[in-house]
Amino acid sequence: MRSKNILDEISDGKLYDIGDMVKADTGGCTGCSDCCKDVGDLVVLTPFDVNEIVNFLGVSFDELLGDKIVLRETNKISLPYLKMQDKNKYCSFLNKEGRCTIHSKRPNICRLFPLGRVYKGDDFKYFLQIGNCPKDNLQEVKVESWLGIDNYDENKKFILEWHKFIKALTFRLKFVRDEEEIAKVNETLLNGFYRTSVKEADFYSEFMKNFPKIKNELGII
Ligand code: SF4
Ligand code: SF4
Repeated sequence: MRSKNILDEISDGKLYDIGDMVKADTGGCTGCSDCCKDVGDLVVLTPFDVNEIVNFLGVSFDELLGDKIVLRETNKISLPYLKMQDKNKYCSFLNKEGRCTIHSKRPNICRLFPLGRVYKGDDFKYFLQIGNCPKDNLQEVKVESWLGIDNYDENKKFILEWHKFIKALTFRLKFVRDEEEIAKVNETLLNGFYRTSVKEADFYSEFMKNFPKIKNELGII
């Protein structure tokens, strides 16, 4: 989440919605993979992202851990992030030709660039990052087309619920000092949301069905 004054510095000063036109279209990224380098602490994966990747690659969450994704702890919450390669800091999903090997199932955050998301109340909007994409003359494109996310309304509902949940969990753990309790919470989080892959078509319904139970186990109302 970005605050308004940081936003003024890094964006064109406008906020965009899904139906708006924005100068974000690179016209193809051939020969460039700048936004896939050194983003290990930026691309945090949601359960949706992980479900898409494990289905696409036919592997389990634990098989991705270590090689392609890593757990990072922020505010005592352990979540999976893209792993950068040690030798060159490029994303582990990038191949030798500089192409994303999970392009059609790349994480939601990867789909945005050079857009970003800013949360406002119970909603979010998009902003255009300035100076981060090296391509000249970005062309106007509808935000919806640029993102290319299927079932956008369900995806947005999920993202908002997930964002609210992570905020609530952050607050819940703020004053917890007991290492065992923190470890137990993180194990429940990973087991409940990331180690339970389902068919892609069933993701949103299964998530919403199980969400209250797992939140309850984690002590979130
Ligand atoms: S930095 Fe811009 S041109 Fe390069 S891969 Fe990312 S979006 Fe494409
Ligand atoms: S998942 Fe794909 S698009 Fe995202 S940073 Fe890695 S290589 Fe780039």
